[in-house]
Amino acid sequence: MKASPQAQLKLLELADLDAELGRLDHRRRTLPESQEYERAQARNAELRGELATLEAQQSDLERDQSKAERDVDQVRTRIERDRARLDAGLVSSPKELENLQSEIVSLARRQSDLEEVVLEVMERLEEVSGRRTTVAGEQAALTGQLEEIAARRDAALAEIEEESGKASDSRAGIAAEIPDDLLGLYDRLRAQHTVGAAALNRGRCEGCHLSLNKVDLGRIRAAPPDEVLRCEECRRILVRADELSS
Ligand SMILES: [Zn+2]
Repeated sequence: MKASPQAQLKLLELADLDAELGRLDHRRRTLPESQEYERAQARNAELRGELATLEAQQSDLERDQSKAERDVDQVRTRIERDRARLDAGLVSSPKELENLQSEIVSLARRQSDLEEVVLEVMERLEEVSGRRTTVAGEQAALTGQLEEIAARRDAALAEIEEESGKASDSRAGIAAEIPDDLLGLYDRLRAQHTVGAAALNRGRCEGCHLSLNKVDLGRIRAAPPDEVLRCEECRRILVRADELSS
């Protein structure tokens, strides 16, 4: 393939811009702010899950508490009724009297057990609602952090986007000055090797960083300036930067 030395030198500018675009793309994909945001979001989902569990626990406990309190009330009412019967002197048979007194004793024991249950449930409720307050507080703080991280991430992305836009514009301008066949070869090589063209400096290919042997160097020196050369090692287009620009 033949191409003017100017067109060949343009390939090096194109390769620089492609490297720049590659770096920007890498930065975009590995942005620390994006990773930070994802971590914060994962934590947020955890907290949301924990809050849902705590809310369910709290409502279960509140139901348990009402039930236990209703049970206490029922037993207390029965005790009061029994005592009223005793006090009114309505029970005359000694057997019946004895039964009533022992019922009051066992009801009193039952009442004390149920009151114990109420206290236990209230303690659990206090724990759960305390934990809920803590988790809700952490989540509220995290919501603020998420907004702050998203703002930093978006600013970094916008900056990358702007640089990337500039590099793309420059690339389009330079590509327009390169003949189609040479540009086609460059793009094919770039797709295969990431870099499509490299400079030859002091006998060394700047693409693969290998020094060319004397035979290859001799062949390159003998080649006319408009001959498009390739590195024998990495197959990239080898641009004789020093010779062609002088
Ligand atoms: Zn090479």
